[in-house]
Amino acid sequence: MTYKSKFGFGCMRLPTTDDKDPTSVNQELFNEMVDLYMEKGYNYFDTSYAYHGGMSEAAIKKAVVDRYPRESFEICDKIPTWALTSEEDNEKFVNEMLERLGTDYFDVLFIHNINVPWFKLAEDNNSFEFIKQMKDTGIARKIGFSFHEKASLLEKVLEKYSNIIDIVQLQLNYLDWEDPSIESHKCYDLCVKHGVDVYVMEPLKGGLIVNTNDEIKEEFRKFNPDKSIASYAMRFCASLDNVKMVLTGMNKMEDLLDNLDTYENFEVLSDEESEFLERMAKKLFESVAVNCSECGYCTDACPEMIPIPEYFRLYNRSKNVNDNIYRLYFDKLNDEEVPASECTYCGTCLDFCTQKIDIPEELEKVCEHFENGFSPYAGSP
Ligand code: SF4
Ligand code: SF4
Repeated sequence: MTYKSKFGFGCMRLPTTDDKDPTSVNQELFNEMVDLYMEKGYNYFDTSYAYHGGMSEAAIKKAVVDRYPRESFEICDKIPTWALTSEEDNEKFVNEMLERLGTDYFDVLFIHNINVPWFKLAEDNNSFEFIKQMKDTGIARKIGFSFHEKASLLEKVLEKYSNIIDIVQLQLNYLDWEDPSIESHKCYDLCVKHGVDVYVMEPLKGGLIVNTNDEIKEEFRKFNPDKSIASYAMRFCASLDNVKMVLTGMNKMEDLLDNLDTYENFEVLSDEESEFLERMAKKLFESVAVNCSECGYCTDACPEMIPIPEYFRLYNRSKNVNDNIYRLYFDKLNDEEVPASECTYCGTCLDFCTQKIDIPEELEKVCEHFENGFSPYAGSP
């Protein structure tokens, strides 16, 4: 295994032609990115039944499956755990996923997002036995689950199922590494202990790590003006021995080029760089109002269709940037989409949140922050 082989193409945040419509995948640009990625010797694509409202799988079919020999690439797909209503649903979803992808096997098959309620759903519907059967019959070459929860649940799941699974796909990055609400470090150690590989998702925490304030950006620039902030995040993950894959969402060509540069010239993180990232993680943590990774699962679940991550993004930005423009953006979002204040506190979104955010409570804070006049962090209007 080389470091280069750890660079996986995450297909949850593909380029789109319409920012407001996640199903509008920009196929032309995605094809170009796939061609460059494959040409440089990389070959792993990660998707799910849910990404881009089902259009991520369809885009991979067009860009990869229909244009390259099947053995030249690998695809990971995920069963939508939250939508399981019976044991038969496992097979129903898998058949649909294979059809959307235009393939007859998965290189990796995951149960998507094991958390407390969905672990119960997966067990009630025999999903672990089902994926084992998929591996035994050659429909899946490797199996496992994706996971954003804390170490105590992971320990419980691994004690029961580490003997049948190959991989845990973990949320892991230098911001979450020692965060007590995520426990990436503890989760990583548990995977090592149980002998299962780690595939990393959210190495940039949905962009939170790179879209930071000017002060932190300046510290990175001073530390090494030739390296991007994203490159450190990739190297932090890929330098860990038991990490076998690092998935990176790329919605523009520049992201791909930057990542190619990182992996083509890969260097294991030095002690000095590790210490620097530890310091930056503390600063970043203090600068974030809501720990949202913009995964978007809550938006699909919300019966009021509130664009939750968009409100949280504005809140985070207004905390970091000394500019009242974010109050205007908030007003515009309220006018054009469902206002944040229309949250009914129904709680439907809570199980879907990968970061365990108390969404209704935070939405209330967003409204207070913007509606109590201009941002307290901003200058005079
Ligand atoms: S609690 Fe609010 S944000 Fe969450 S699903 Fe209900 S209405 Fe939507
Ligand atoms: S609030 Fe939670 S579920 Fe919604 S986008 Fe943010 S991290 Fe994802």
